[in-house]
Amino acid sequence: GVTPLVAGNWKMNGTAASLGEIRDVCAGLDHKDALPHETLLCLPATLIERAASVAADSVLSIGGEDCHPLESGAHTGDISAEMLADAGATAVIVGHSERRTDHSETNALVADKAKAAWRAGLSAIVCVGETREERESGNAENVVASQLAGSVPDAMNAANTVIAYEPVWAIGTGLVPSGDDIEAMHALIRRIMTERFGSEGEGVRILYGGSVKPANAKEIFSIANVDGGLVGGASLKASDFLAICEGV
Ligand code: 13P
Repeated sequence: GVTPLVAGNWKMNGTAASLGEIRDVCAGLDHKDALPHETLLCLPATLIERAASVAADSVLSIGGEDCHPLESGAHTGDISAEMLADAGATAVIVGHSERRTDHSETNALVADKAKAAWRAGLSAIVCVGETREERESGNAENVVASQLAGSVPDAMNAANTVIAYEPVWAIGTGLVPSGDDIEAMHALIRRIMTERFGSEGEGVRILYGGSVKPANAKEIFSIANVDGGLVGGASLKASDFLAICEGV
């Protein structure tokens, strides 16, 4: 079977004072042998090198939250996938809804970022998900299908890519879709990925994200085709993140 992934996304949070949380996550994971899941924290670029050093002897992996499609050049303020890898990252989130919204990122740009991640040896966590209006108008499945078609490049495989389904209206709101709705969307994503990529699509991990908390993680992770979670706010506190990991 597929090894689940529990991934955190710190977003624009964290300074040196937060490294203790990373130390605590490592300590909480590393006293157990043979964890049933992989564990990743995606962090602001400023923290990656220090966090990777804290986690160097740990099962915890460190990732970035975004990358530029190019390797280097005149792009003030941007950070390449190669730079993230150099700092110690092994994965990067691409196409998070906050970047699609705040920075007008298109599916084509997200696909280029996924390819950049692979070029640098990182795995790409490609995010998709509908807005509240899109769900209420019955378009959630079409939106997610077209995001997958446009954001996942042809060279995707089960090792270099993770799909994260994050309904925009569930992010940071405490709202979570019903179990049936999560199951239906993850089944659709699995079908689309399998039709396009065969066994690689069967094996690719599909994470749920949006208000995952210690109280609901176990139930969400038990849903068919949910291969772990992408956790925002609750990944900032080691005790909450570790409790969510316990739900796998
Ligand atoms: P919350 O867990 O804070 O709802 O955020 C989810 C998310 O956007 C993870 O990428």
